[in-house]
Amino acid sequence: MVRMEMEISNEEEGECEGWTPVGRGRGRGRGGFKVGDGKGIRDVQGSKRDLEESSSEEERVVRRKVVDEKFKVILKLKSEEGQEKISPIGVSREIKKKIGDVEMVKILRDGSLLIECKDIEQKSKAFKVENICKRAVLEKKMLGENKKTRGVIYGIPLDEDLEKLKKNVVGAKVFNMKRLSRTVDGERVGSMSVLVEFEEKELPMNIKIGYISFQVRTYTPPPLRCYKCQRYGHIAAVCKGKQRCPKCGEDHKFEECKEDVEEKCCNCGGNHRVTYGGCEVRKRAKEVVQIKTTKTRTAKQL
Ligand SMILES: [Zn+2]
Ligand SMILES: [Zn+2]
Ligand SMILES: [Zn+2]
Repeated sequence: MVRMEMEISNEEEGECEGWTPVGRGRGRGRGGFKVGDGKGIRDVQGSKRDLEESSSEEERVVRRKVVDEKFKVILKLKSEEGQEKISPIGVSREIKKKIGDVEMVKILRDGSLLIECKDIEQKSKAFKVENICKRAVLEKKMLGENKKTRGVIYGIPLDEDLEKLKKNVVGAKVFNMKRLSRTVDGERVGSMSVLVEFEEKELPMNIKIGYISFQVRTYTPPPLRCYKCQRYGHIAAVCKGKQRCPKCGEDHKFEECKEDVEEKCCNCGGNHRVTYGGCEVRKRAKEVVQIKTTKTRTAKQL
């Protein structure tokens, strides 16, 4: 297995994996949360059964969690630079008008709203909301929805048709495939790595495409970086820092930067852009994500 050190990242597009795009309505109002019976990935397909029939301790725990999360909805709002921060009173007023007298709303670190509805009626209303405080709702997610696992396979030629590839996977049920990009001389280009989203509770160790076996590695999402101050762990919508250029570190936007400027990282002071994979600060931020991902994987295997 050839391992390559590369930055598997899609953050430049500002995408957030695992969200349900607005309009596609995946999982809307779906109640059939299913769990496998722990016999192993290969059998999951045939041994899935409804939660109502479950009896093991593990499944009871899952069931309790589902009840708790049943009416929680996350709305991801579009955020533009220079836009004012979300007002608690403004949001509350609008939510009451559009969804009703909900239990609670939390403003998450990435600016999304976590809405705890009281009943199914409020939940379905929440799923119909198109904007809040003049911010468009980009994506809607339901907590407690059957979670998917994500892994990475390496060695997929750049001209390979991923849709065809997906149909030829043996050994696991694949929901989606997406080519990961990497940075070469400051430009985003496609890589040989493909992100695979499985409809499985546990990440398979290997999958076969036709007869060829591929090792499945854990996917570590890129660390969350603020487009305004360039620090890690929050986004521009909730930023309290100053505007920094990701290329030269000065107090202007990337678009306003000069062509032949000397690269300087405002996070570590080194002679590189903030996105450089070898940056110590970036590496540390990445480790944090890695630890989180590993923990999730271990927890799933217990
Ligand atoms: Zn910031
Ligand atoms: Zn600059
Ligand atoms: Zn740096």
